[in-house]
Amino acid sequence: EEIEFIQALQMPGTRKDEPDLSESEMKKLTIEETQKSLPIYPFKEDLIAAMEEHQVLIIEGETGSGKTTQIPQYLTQAGYTRGEKKIGCTQPRRVAAMSVAARVSEEMGYKLGNEVGYSIRFEDCTSERTIIKYMTDGMLLREFLSEPDLGGYSVMIIDEAHERTLHTDVLFGLVKDIARFRPDLKLLISSATLDAEKFSEFFDDAPIFRIPGRRYPVDIYYTKAPEADYLDAAVVSVLQIHVTQPTGDILVFMTGQEEIETSNEMLQERTRKLGSKIKELIILPIYANLPSDMQAKIFEPTPPGARKVILATNIAETSLTIDGIKYVIDPGFCKQNSYNARTGMESLVVTPISKNSRNESLVVTPISKASANQRAGRAGRVSAGKCFRLYTAWAYKNELEDNTIPEIQRTNLGNVVLLLKSLGINDLIHFDFMDPPPHETLVLALEQLYALGALNNRGELTKLGRRMAEFPVDPMMSKMILASEQYQCAKEILSITAMLSVNNSIFYRPKDKVVHADTARQNFFRPGGDHLTLLNIYEQWEETDYSTQWCFENFIQHRSMKRARDVRDQLEGLLERVEIEVTSKPGDTIALRKAITAGFFYHTARLSKGGNYRTVKHQQTVMVHPNSSLFEDRPRWLIYHELVFTTKEFMRQVIEIENSWLLEVAPHYYKSKELEDGSGKKMPKNTGKTREDVTRNY
Ligand code: ADP
Ligand code: MG
Repeated sequence: EEIEFIQALQMPGTRKDEPDLSESEMKKLTIEETQKSLPIYPFKEDLIAAMEEHQVLIIEGETGSGKTTQIPQYLTQAGYTRGEKKIGCTQPRRVAAMSVAARVSEEMGYKLGNEVGYSIRFEDCTSERTIIKYMTDGMLLREFLSEPDLGGYSVMIIDEAHERTLHTDVLFGLVKDIARFRPDLKLLISSATLDAEKFSEFFDDAPIFRIPGRRYPVDIYYTKAPEADYLDAAVVSVLQIHVTQPTGDILVFMTGQEEIETSNEMLQERTRKLGSKIKELIILPIYANLPSDMQAKIFEPTPPGARKVILATNIAETSLTIDGIKYVIDPGFCKQNSYNARTGMESLVVTPISKNSRNESLVVTPISKASANQRAGRAGRVSAGKCFRLYTAWAYKNELEDNTIPEIQRTNLGNVVLLLKSLGINDLIHFDFMDPPPHETLVLALEQLYALGALNNRGELTKLGRRMAEFPVDPMMSKMILASEQYQCAKEILSITAMLSVNNSIFYRPKDKVVHADTARQNFFRPGGDHLTLLNIYEQWEETDYSTQWCFENFIQHRSMKRARDVRDQLEGLLERVEIEVTSKPGDTIALRKAITAGFFYHTARLSKGGNYRTVKHQQTVMVHPNSSLFEDRPRWLIYHELVFTTKEFMRQVIEIENSWLLEVAPHYYKSKELEDGSGKKMPKNTGKTREDVTRNY
């Protein structure tokens, strides 16, 4: 089986000459030599001068020019970190924040976390000495809560602006505002692509500083016919390149961890079969949840005679630059959240794969032309390269949108609305958005926050809302955490929350021990549902004093458990901040399940007469996931944590509840009548309680 590719036009480079250095020589460059070889280097002085002159500057330079790693160092040398001030730099992805911080601390000769550090959700790797701080855009948003004028910073770099993530888009409005009353704060908006004009316009015509690209030409290939299975096609293409093409590493774009793991296994198996018939192929995955020591591996130089193939998510599109890539394989898809989807791509099959706790569908979506060209560009950094697109030239032309729709237009805004309200920004309709979110999404977010008790009927933040905003989790989750005070089970709810946050990577299920692994998993089951199973796992692990061996014996991923513990520690700290005592009610699963219901009452499903589950508010047919402990029990009333789409819509992580609890926790949201279930059991009359009655005590 071989894939037939057709060569199309070449994507021109800005360099046609051959590389200055052969690849093997390139790898011997010292840090200083590498720094001097970067496209941004000749512009160092000009850049510093432009910064002196202007308060806001837009920087445009293609990926790999050195924007992220070099600019903060230049600014440090220019004195911007004097007087206890920091340089901040936001990244849309946490892997990028960690990896870039590691690289820069190495370049500067510091230990990571001291002078150079990073801050991502649930992990703060900075210290009092930190002068350069990389952070996710979401973390900077949260910093506004404690330091609304960003007083600790002399420069803020909003990096990867072209990605247009929700958090970055909100930051645009906030930093623009701050710049007005903090004339000493410098703002840099840095972007890899051609949106610079749009950014400039938004920031009151700020000047654009362009770093000329230095890319070699890349030959573009398309498949002759559409590929039905892009995963298989990608694997075949890797081997095809490996066997027929000269040296140079391969970068393959996948949509997520599962795909990367699957194709990794497929590649391992096929190369093993080919044995010594082919040269060594080093297969390296990179995705958000990969432990950082494994992440670092992708940057290690390829040994002579071997070839590296990197299986990456979108992270390698612009956030990370891996030297030595000469071949790119682009299946043409990415994973996106979509909400009230108006993606305008009805012509292509869009398969939702799950719904997260924010009710957003995660869908595998065709990428945009802009993305496809970014991906291709990754092949031309060290010499002329080749990009193999696993779709036809026709599909590129007719089926791909020009640009990716900004996340703000396809996401649930609950979290961000709550945060903005906490910052005192009440009029969200008139907030300075670069591209405003759809009106109905904004309204829906307000309604949800109202139902949860975070806003009052004038749309103002309540005390509960203020406390909810302290937690870097979705509103339903933070409501659940706060409800645990009333039900006196904060200790358990914290563990459950932490476990839910590492949810999909707790169990280890090796192919040759499937039965053992499943038995081990089922041994953890607890009556009442999956949240209680998660709690049981956490508590047992706690009792073994966090033993690695115990995890191993029980087919549990130790790494995920450690992460859950970190998350838990952080949440516990935040609980202290909102002055909630960490109480415990061992064995009282009703209290626990009521606290969960208080947060997740939106996610209720009822067993219908036909024997199916239906969601109560939208009458959507859903099924209990086969992995759930309640798969066979089929209780009348359930609350689910999230929905997963495969062949059907499955509820993942479910607990059994009683319908009367819904009236107890959300009398404003449910009517008695809606909750009758034909069991003959009389529902209590409407309690007569209002939303305020219920949430007053939070
Ligand atoms: P940009 O932000 O303009 O895309 P970067 O500053 O991220 O560019 O990258 C510039 C160069 O720094 C890359 O080409 C690569 O050589 C080097 N680099 C970046 N991160 C790492 C890392 N973690 N390990 C090794 N080299 C790195
Ligand atoms: Mg960068």
